[in-house]
This record gives sequence, structure tokens and C-alpha cells, in this order.
Amino acid sequence: MNNLVWKEISAEALRANMGALRKMIGSERILCPCVKSDAYGHGLVEAGRCFVEAGADWLSVNSLDEAKRLREGGIEVPVYIMGYVLLEELAELVEMKDVRVIVYNRETVEVLGKLGKEVKIHLKLETGNNRQGLADDKLVELVEAVKQYRNIEIEGMATHFANIEDTTDHSYAEEQLQEFRRLIALIEDRCGVVPKIRHCANSAATLLFDETRFEMVRPGIISYGLWPSKETYASYLASGAKEFWARPAFSWKTRVAQVKDVPAAQFVGYGCTYRTSRKTTLAILPVGYYDGYDRGVKGAHVLIHGKRAAVVGRICMNMIMVDVTDIEGVAVEDEVVLIGQSGGELISVEEFAGWAGTINYEVTTRIGGKLVVK
Ligand SMILES: *Cc1c(COP(=O)(O)O)cnc(C)c1O
Repeated sequence: MNNLVWKEISAEALRANMGALRKMIGSERILCPCVKSDAYGHGLVEAGRCFVEAGADWLSVNSLDEAKRLREGGIEVPVYIMGYVLLEELAELVEMKDVRVIVYNRETVEVLGKLGKEVKIHLKLETGNNRQGLADDKLVELVEAVKQYRNIEIEGMATHFANIEDTTDHSYAEEQLQEFRRLIALIEDRCGVVPKIRHCANSAATLLFDETRFEMVRPGIISYGLWPSKETYASYLASGAKEFWARPAFSWKTRVAQVKDVPAAQFVGYGCTYRTSRKTTLAILPVGYYDGYDRGVKGAHVLIHGKRAAVVGRICMNMIMVDVTDIEGVAVEDEVVLIGQSGGELISVEEFAGWAGTINYEVTTRIGGKLVVK
């Protein structure tokens, strides 16, 4: 980590997004935003705190480590762990206050049972994602295994959509929803177990389908003001919603390290992949692929003084070069916006994702380093 490159997170935007989600789902349901992966790069504890201040009831994370960091950060709301917890770490989990975990292995059930401490679990139901989860006889066996132990409460049942943000055709999601209901009914019928909390709604489902919200929602990316996809945004508008209320909270910035003039027909950077076509003023920026400025980006820009400057030559480990010939008065240590707004110009997370050939989710989660909350 260094002071040359930093992320700026808008606490106000995070709070506004959580407020809007609360309004959307009503006061009865549990609002459980996802703060896994360092809150999608927005700072686990920092973002978690903003969400709780703005009305989040629970927080969901991927790992036990993230749950511990929330507690160390003074955040006391219930935490739901959605990833995997090692068997040897379950003893630590059951000692934590108000932490529950998703379960889909018999081994986990047996270790939790033998620990003898009261613990709440949620079961992952396999409905067509074929990631975590169990269905039918295997699921019934798991429930029966849990019933052997009086210290384990099946508090919730969950599933996860495979194909909801990648398309405007939601028929597969509808099939999964039906499957979810069928499996819950099956467990009630065969095992006599009824969960208090059913949940399956990620951002796209929360935004688009009230019937997926059940007793709790788990919105991730939209909590950060980013849409799951163009398709989700289009479906949202098509459903009659008018407002574009989501406010991106993420910016990424650096400073100019050097400004210099180079003649025409000079190569710039490793591999001599770029050659100046005119007398060019370059700014050298102290950010590179080590910091998350993906080496694969094509056609990228940065913003200086509210204007676009093209990235030229290859991305280096700790440096990039940009063409500032057409921007007046660029000086050493001027602020540079890599992602975010400068004057009237904007480089959105989605635009950067396009240059990098990926999705907004991967962009913000992969950018590490210094974090400033404003
Ligand atoms: C990450 C995740 C979410 C949130 O997904 P978004 O698309 O970011 O809203 C919800 N549920 C589970 C199980 C997840 O892993």
C-alpha cells in the first residue's frame, strides 16, 4: 500500500443506496447487504458501518475472517457467512455472538453438533446453479442429520440465482424460484422443518421481483450504487420504475509524477507498442497492474482537470503513461481520476470494465490499496 493511489468512497452514496433499498423492500423484511470481498472493494468495516447507520439489519460476508473483522470494527448486527468455514474453525464460529453460517455439508453438521453450543444455520438449497447446495434426498438426509443435534437451529433456507442479471429473459430464474418453493415444501413434508427466514434475492432479484424477497434480501452490487448489468437496468426500467436512484460510491485516484514533452515518432513504454504521431506531452502516473490497473485494458482514459487523457503504451507494474498534449497546464502532483468524476467528465466503473474486458463486480473488488471515506 502507498499514498500514490487511493480509492475514495462516498459514505453519503452508500447510505442513500441503503435507504432506497429499505424503502423498496419495506420495513418487515431483513435487509442484509453483502459486504464480502472488502465490501466489493469499498472497505468492509467502513461500508458495513454506513449500511448499518442507514438501516441494514444484518450483513452478509463470505468468510469467518470477514465476520471477525466486522466484530473487531465494532459492528454488532447479525452476520451471515455465505462461503465456507473450515471444520477446524467452527469452534471459533460458535463462540461468536449472532453469527450464522450457510451449511451444505454433513461434515459441518457433525462438527457443529459435537461442539454442543447453540448455533443457527441456514441450509443452501440446490435449485439450478450447481454451485453450493443440496436438493431432494441429499437435502433431506442433511436435515435429518441436523435434527440429531438439539443445539443446531435451522433458522433459514437459501438459494442463489444462476441466470438473472445476464439476461432480460427471466424464465430460468422463475424455474429456480419454483424449485426453491418445492424444496422448502418437501422439507416441511418429510422432515417437519419450517425455516423462519427464506432468502434468495441478490441485487437483480431484489430490484426486479417482489416474490423473490421472502423474509430477507441479500443485495450486493446495487448497495454500492452499481447495476448488476445493463440487462437488469433495462428490465428495471421496463417494469415501470422511473428513477435512476443508485449512486455509485467508488472513485479511484492518483497524482501526476512527471510531465514531459517527447518529439513525434518516439516509442512509449515496454515492447515499443505505441509511437507518438505528433509532438506529445506525456504525464507519467504512479499506478500500474500491481495496484489493479489491469494490464489488459484497451483504449483506456484517465481524467485530468476534467478532461480525458488517453493511456498510451503498455501498462507497467507501477506506472502508466498518458497523453496530456491537449490538456492545458498539467503539473506534477495534479490529481488524476482513474475511475470517477472530474468536472463534467465521468469514467464509470462500467466503462473501465469494458476496457478491461470484464464486469463492474471484478473491477471494484480487485482494486486494493489505500481507502479514504468521504
Ligand atoms: C455475492 C452474493 C450475493 C450478492 O450478489 P449481487 O449480484 O452483488 O447482488 C447474494 N447472495 C450470494 C449467495 C452471493 O454470493
